[in-house]
Amino acid sequence: MALARSRLAATGLVLVMAATACGLQAPSASKSRPPADPIVLATAPKPSSANQANQPNLPNLPVQTTVTISAVGDCTFGLGIGFGYAGSWNDYFERLGPEHFLKGVLEVFAADDYTIANLEGPLTERGQPTPKTFNFRGPAKHAEALVLGSVEAVTLANNHSLDYGQVGLEDTRQTLDRYGITHFGNDQVAVDEVKGIKIGLIGAAAWDNSAATRNDVAQKLSQLEADIKIVVFHWGIEREYRQNADQVSLARHAIDSGADMVLGHHPHVLQGVETYQGKPIAYSLGNFSFGGNSNPPDKDSMIFQASFTFTDGELSQITSRIIPVSISSVPHTNDYSPVLLVGQEAERVTAKVLSSSTNYPETS
Ligand SMILES: [Zn+2]
Repeated sequence: MALARSRLAATGLVLVMAATACGLQAPSASKSRPPADPIVLATAPKPSSANQANQPNLPNLPVQTTVTISAVGDCTFGLGIGFGYAGSWNDYFERLGPEHFLKGVLEVFAADDYTIANLEGPLTERGQPTPKTFNFRGPAKHAEALVLGSVEAVTLANNHSLDYGQVGLEDTRQTLDRYGITHFGNDQVAVDEVKGIKIGLIGAAAWDNSAATRNDVAQKLSQLEADIKIVVFHWGIEREYRQNADQVSLARHAIDSGADMVLGHHPHVLQGVETYQGKPIAYSLGNFSFGGNSNPPDKDSMIFQASFTFTDGELSQITSRIIPVSISSVPHTNDYSPVLLVGQEAERVTAKVLSSSTNYPETS
């Protein structure tokens, strides 16, 4: 959902009820309407003093607010050096426009309150390629795909943000600012407010489980002033389907240090999920709209979605769920347009994630 929309929704129950009458909104109209999240309907307005005067026996009902956050993995909105143009992310952008890429998941992203992705590669036309195996980049206009896809925030803490040096990273930050996309990672934390709830975001490229890495995360968490604290790690081993001991240890450490949710990526495939101390962890969200490979053999991905309910301002319940996705709307190639899976395919991907998972109750 767009932030402006959620702030609007917080201003009145009447607006929420109007949205409910409309059902799940059409994606094209979603930006201007308040959310249709049925959980919001459970919100009970605190009786005003006038009401209490008229109905002296009415008890003070608890005020509940639920914020639903979706998270996805690697979004590479550009080309690698030496990659062919035909069939590339850039090729699809020029032929089908920015709306092509996230249209298949917009019904989820437009209906939630906040969406977080991993922007794996700078948006810049400047800088020199850093010596490494893969250098990705796309022009600034590719950020329009995030806006049209109702993505609110991206982490830049990954092993591609510096593919075109510091100037490329600075260009990316400025572009995201211009398009109204929150960005965070490494030394930059971010806080956004949705329905009066502050969402705090920490991003870290965590290649080890050293004391320095653990202390850095704990320190950032202790300084972060937010109602929902989310840590996003770029970590793990590429193409490994099971999270390793370092990831598990670091995720749990983040939660022990105050995180309310831990998200991860880098392996380019899905890994397991966990609920630890009542807080959800997704170890690897896999690829999403991923321009780094025109036909990866494993196109399975997911949207990991968590709902945080606050009762009288206190976090009272967290639920989470796996929404199975294919990174391409067609099976024979990558068209960079993720779609929601249904039926047996959805069951297969969910079972695959759960087979790498331990201790995953959806509700805490
Ligand atoms: Zn990576």
